[in-house]
Amino acid sequence: ALTNKVLRASVQTGLRFQGTSARAATSTLKTAQGGFRFELTDQQKEFQEVARKFAREEIIPAAPSYDKSGEYPVALIKRAWELGLINSHIPESCGGMGLGIFDACLITEELAYGCTGVQTAIEANSLGQMPVIIAGNDMQKKKYLGRMTEEPLMCAYCVTEPGAGSDVAGIKTRAEKKGDEYVVNGQKMWITNGGKANWYFLLARTDPDPKCPASKAFTGFIVDADTPGVQMGRKEMNMGQRCSDTRGITFEDVRIPKENVLIGEGAGFKIAMGAFDKTRPPVAAGATGLAQRALDEATKYSLERKTFGRLISDHQAVAFLLAEMAIKVELARLAYQRAAWEVDEGRRNTYYASIAKAFAGDIANQVASDAVQVFGGNGYNSEYPVEKLMRDAKIYQIYEGTAQIQRLIISREHLVKFKN
Ligand SMILES: Cc1cc2nc3c(=O)[nH]c(=O)nc-3n(C[C@H](O)[C@H](O)[C@H](O)COP(=O)(O)OP(=O)(O)OC[C@H]3O[C@@H](n4cnc5c(N)ncnc54)[C@H](O)[C@@H]3O)c2cc1C
Repeated sequence: ALTNKVLRASVQTGLRFQGTSARAATSTLKTAQGGFRFELTDQQKEFQEVARKFAREEIIPAAPSYDKSGEYPVALIKRAWELGLINSHIPESCGGMGLGIFDACLITEELAYGCTGVQTAIEANSLGQMPVIIAGNDMQKKKYLGRMTEEPLMCAYCVTEPGAGSDVAGIKTRAEKKGDEYVVNGQKMWITNGGKANWYFLLARTDPDPKCPASKAFTGFIVDADTPGVQMGRKEMNMGQRCSDTRGITFEDVRIPKENVLIGEGAGFKIAMGAFDKTRPPVAAGATGLAQRALDEATKYSLERKTFGRLISDHQAVAFLLAEMAIKVELARLAYQRAAWEVDEGRRNTYYASIAKAFAGDIANQVASDAVQVFGGNGYNSEYPVEKLMRDAKIYQIYEGTAQIQRLIISREHLVKFKN
């Protein structure tokens, strides 16, 4: 059904799909007859084009006002849903498009170019869904993923707590088995889509023994947001990505049926961490989209602004700054594409996903800051687009594993690879 929506949308926007199914899309860099290819398939180009047109014509004009008000971008999310630009990896068996991570990343980069607040709200759906996609049984997938293809519903990934973010094994939320149910008590924090979700992926401790290893102590649950005892906190006012909805969620004697356990008791930690292999490449794609926008805004400005009788792009210092920004954007794009391609090929991509996330997160911050520099005093002012980009960029070094945690993962993976 979603594919049809995209097809319809593509006709409306003057684009044409060549296949009838998104499944027909194959990854780029495919080892085809000629070896590596850096050319996107026609279908991938068309996905990219639909997302690009939506971002430039509908997200960009609305973004400053959402940034100021902090209002959740309901209209844009609905439109993205109609265009098939959200929930793209829900399997076809549940009514979705079943796209790979590579194709989802292409869409994400374009949405992020428009506004990363909107992109994060959309991406948080993928993060909430991913544990169900990788670990859900047929009944769970049909029930919780299927409904998202029927109407524009949101979900969320509920793991971080006030006392534990990087140290996931330190979370305190408890789930106790009582008959055919689990009773959950605890406090989650910084949950994207927290106040807008129809359901949550929840990680809670089921084995109270502090000596129990993380790989056995935690369980992953699906929780309907309207379950009695689920209490949403206030919307947090963050530095950037202000239209994205971030909240604390309290669970007080929340009863969850055992049918909502993913895989089984004790399997939660691996599921929660495993989701990142598929969601970190899109986060990196989002950071790349922001960096590309910053580069484009700075380039445009450098071709308009004159100092000392010349365009500022004619000053070598400014031109070289643009060159450095371009280098970073191109390499971040290659990094997320490699990470996405690896996982679509069915290979373990933890190393590449962390490299992409760490690099793209860092360069988004550097490139946005450089864009402010190119704008001079105007760059520091909210009437111009780049100060928002600089505020929005920071979160890419924090969520889904901080810049430091990515380096921890990369160094571990690197040392194991080297020793082997
Ligand atoms: C806007 C926003 C949206 C978010 N969305 C979600 C969401 O949807 N779902 C969810 O579950 N969580 C979400 N988070 C939480 C996010 O993933 C965590 O904030 C992040 O993982 C860091 O955890 P922390 O805040 O507890 O920082 P801490 O873990 O306390 O880290 C503090 C500092 O210490 C560093 N540090 C910690 N441990 C180490 C170490 N071993 N080595 C080196 N340095 C270390 C960190 O890198 C960081 O610089 C979100 C956060 C924000 C701000």
